[in-house]
Amino acid sequence: MKGLNTMKFPALRTLGRVALGHAAVLLAHAPLFAIPASAQSASPPALFQEKWIDGTQAHEPQTQVQSLDPDTFVIRQSLKTNFEAPFLYLIFGRDKALLFDTGAEGGQTRPVVDRIVQDWLVAHDRSSISLIVAHSHSHGDHVAGDMGFRDRPNTVVIGLEPADVAGFFGIGAWPDEVGRFDLGGRVLHIVPTPGHQSASIMIYDTRLEILLSGDVLYPGRLYVPVNFMSDERASIDRLAAFAATHPVRAVLGAHIEMTRTAGQDYGHQVTPHPDEHRLELPVESIGELQAGLKAPLDVPERPQAHDHFIIYPVARRAN
Ligand SMILES: [Zn+2]
Repeated sequence: MKGLNTMKFPALRTLGRVALGHAAVLLAHAPLFAIPASAQSASPPALFQEKWIDGTQAHEPQTQVQSLDPDTFVIRQSLKTNFEAPFLYLIFGRDKALLFDTGAEGGQTRPVVDRIVQDWLVAHDRSSISLIVAHSHSHGDHVAGDMGFRDRPNTVVIGLEPADVAGFFGIGAWPDEVGRFDLGGRVLHIVPTPGHQSASIMIYDTRLEILLSGDVLYPGRLYVPVNFMSDERASIDRLAAFAATHPVRAVLGAHIEMTRTAGQDYGHQVTPHPDEHRLELPVESIGELQAGLKAPLDVPERPQAHDHFIIYPVARRAN
């Protein structure tokens, strides 16, 4: 799966290996974002205190939760439940919480989310908070848990079509306009990024200055149907312009499919993931993706490998 190997950025700092807690859900908050802007480099700050579950242990919890601050939670679904092992994000503001994706088949997202919400309510001496369920895009490994939320009180599950997403977030000129959604003292920017899939969005959190990038940018195979390659290029051009005017401390995607060896991925559907790449990508990866997309990339299954991701054209798709 080697293709061009261009535009390297410096090797990512290795994540400290920490013994895995068993079935740990709510963890101590890592001392994050303490790095002053001047000290930032192409290596993003290590955001997570624990090593992510990677399927290498005989037993691991079905989900692992790590917090970025008392109002921000990252959930990984175990590779043992589904090879996709997606990452989900739960973000609290004063008035609302937003869940970004509901996981792949085999996951148990609702109970985990309910537990985090309940703990958050207790910690904040509150009795309820409304929940918005949004999606990075409509593929099954990101929406399979939706059913678990449809009957949840005080919950809105956003639809899966671009018009549903644009309508909910008040985005008039999809995909050119960036939406704004206030959770209450915490503004999120919604960046439409059709290409991988027509309803793809990224979410930028103004508080932590993190960009939740779904399947459009993550340490893995960035699949783009050849008939949507021009949409993808336009999306990443807009994203690069957005990132030029908003500080991004780290890009956090929805999967990990790369090893720590530059340009080397795990095979499709291969588990476990020994020596797995970090989740965090530096903001510079946006420019690297933008530059990589200037190649024709018009032949399905002929990928372009970079150190930390692989641009992977695939056959035409309907959406
Ligand atoms: Zn996915």
